[in-house]
Amino acid sequence: MLCDECGLRKAAVYQRHSQRALCEECFEKDLIKRVERSLANYGVSKRERILLAVSGGKDSIAMMFLLSRIFPRENLRAVTIIEGVKGYSRSREVSICDRVANELGIEYEAMHLKDIVGFSVSELVERSREMNLNISPCSFCGVLRRRALNVVAREQGVSKVATAHTLNDEVQTMMLNVLRGDTMRLVQWHPRSVPHSEKLVKRIKPLREIYEYELAIYAYLRGVELQEDQCPYLVQRPTLRFRFKEFLLILEALRPGIALRMLRETELLVEPLVNHVNKSGIVLPLCERCGEPTAPNRKLCRICEYLEALSLS
Ligand SMILES: [Zn+2]
Ligand SMILES: [Zn+2]
Repeated sequence: MLCDECGLRKAAVYQRHSQRALCEECFEKDLIKRVERSLANYGVSKRERILLAVSGGKDSIAMMFLLSRIFPRENLRAVTIIEGVKGYSRSREVSICDRVANELGIEYEAMHLKDIVGFSVSELVERSREMNLNISPCSFCGVLRRRALNVVAREQGVSKVATAHTLNDEVQTMMLNVLRGDTMRLVQWHPRSVPHSEKLVKRIKPLREIYEYELAIYAYLRGVELQEDQCPYLVQRPTLRFRFKEFLLILEALRPGIALRMLRETELLVEPLVNHVNKSGIVLPLCERCGEPTAPNRKLCRICEYLEALSLS
């Protein structure tokens, strides 16, 4: 069967949402087109310097390949933040990232959370268990990683931090925010939202219009073998996000392309609100202890609050 786009080469990928069979080349072009659309949506120019947050999973590897097709490679740097979880060294992921970055000519570094923010995830988890505090490891990990990326981005003088969230991730997040009535999060979810502090580097998600299955195929076509280790703290619970994830797959099977339409329609719907918030001139207060930005009406940031609860401050 020949490619539905060029009619020249053999089709290699069936794209459900467009109902087309594409050759490898046209498939990649189609992915790049959607990444460029997202970048334009974020208002990112090709002259900007971008820090890529890469975990070594298929999505982040695909992101390295795709962005290196768009940006001059000297404008890209990649980093893996090693959380410091006992029994989860990330060495396999780091070596995959290292190899791909090398192949693409992108500067790459693996950094330890402890060296950037002073604590590893396991240190905080063990401490919280000793003190019988019921704080989930994922909560520590989330805030510490976000902080670390922001600090590294500032130090390296980049203007954006790119993460490899997919269309599936983004629609799940959108649905959760809508369900919770969390308007501010919905605004932050929108590509046009601006950070409300000079100390925060804008985060972008260049893969937000690309399905997870497409990234898996793309990484496979680029010859990347994927063996992700799993974090030992990860417990598969039927969280709301997990249920949305399954629900979305069912919807997508019934109506191919619905996730992409939902993302684009919701963006249009939220846009007036985003413009309004962007013009509001909100400036986030700085944490009294560490000087990093925190949420409005708070004295300490989440990390300093955790440290205080664990008697580590
Ligand atoms: Zn083709
Ligand atoms: Zn703080």
